[in-house]
Amino acid sequence: MIYIFCAPSGSGKSTMVKHLLTKHPNLFELSVSCTTRPPRGQEVNGKEYYFISVEEFQKRIEHNDFIEFEQVYEGLYYGTLKEEIDRIEAAGRQVLFDVDVKGGLNLKRILGDQATSIFICPPSIEELRKRLEGRGDTSPEMIEKRLAKAEEELSYKPQFDRVVINDDLPHAFQQLDAIIDENRNIRR
Ligand code: ADP
Ligand code: 5GP
Repeated sequence: MIYIFCAPSGSGKSTMVKHLLTKHPNLFELSVSCTTRPPRGQEVNGKEYYFISVEEFQKRIEHNDFIEFEQVYEGLYYGTLKEEIDRIEAAGRQVLFDVDVKGGLNLKRILGDQATSIFICPPSIEELRKRLEGRGDTSPEMIEKRLAKAEEELSYKPQFDRVVINDDLPHAFQQLDAIIDENRNIRR
């Protein structure tokens, strides 16, 4: 089973993905996307993202390297490489995607029953602002852009297979663990 995590920026997708990677280090692996945005905070090329130029991104589009890509914010491109799925599955692990809402719905359309799409829902827009400000690695201008987009993104929630409300962190982890356990039991 492939898991697709989507949510407005700051809702806790990365936190959920990190929880799964820490809890099950041999079961899951994150699909590393390409992006044209610069690294933020302690981000390392090849770990959180492949940080590439717009020209390189364009070349990869022409080579048909992406399973999906989006201009998530004005002038900033993000794309999922086809080869990431092959790389992770060849290592015997299950793929985790952390992508924007439209990209996630596209992936779900392509992958069908092979994937579970999970929407991470913030308790409120005010809390989302607090989390983005608290993370301390995003400029005030980018925070406003992300919040402006969040309302629209929330309207896509009903199209996802599952919703995890990320209010209190242990409670959110519990909801996520229950989804993973349920899927593993079904497969058994
Ligand atoms: P995303 O990947 O969706 O942009 P992050 O996982 O980076 O979001 O989370 C945004 C910020 O909010 C981070 O600083 C994270 O530690 C914090 N955070 C995540 N979940 C919670 C929660 N339930 N309560 C409080 N803070 C949280
Ligand atoms: P950030 O800049 O905060 O890392 O990511 C901004 C948004 O882009 C997040 O919603 C993140 O999930 C999304 N994103 C990251 N990689 C991809 C990708 O490969 N495709 C799409 N469509 N969105 C992505």
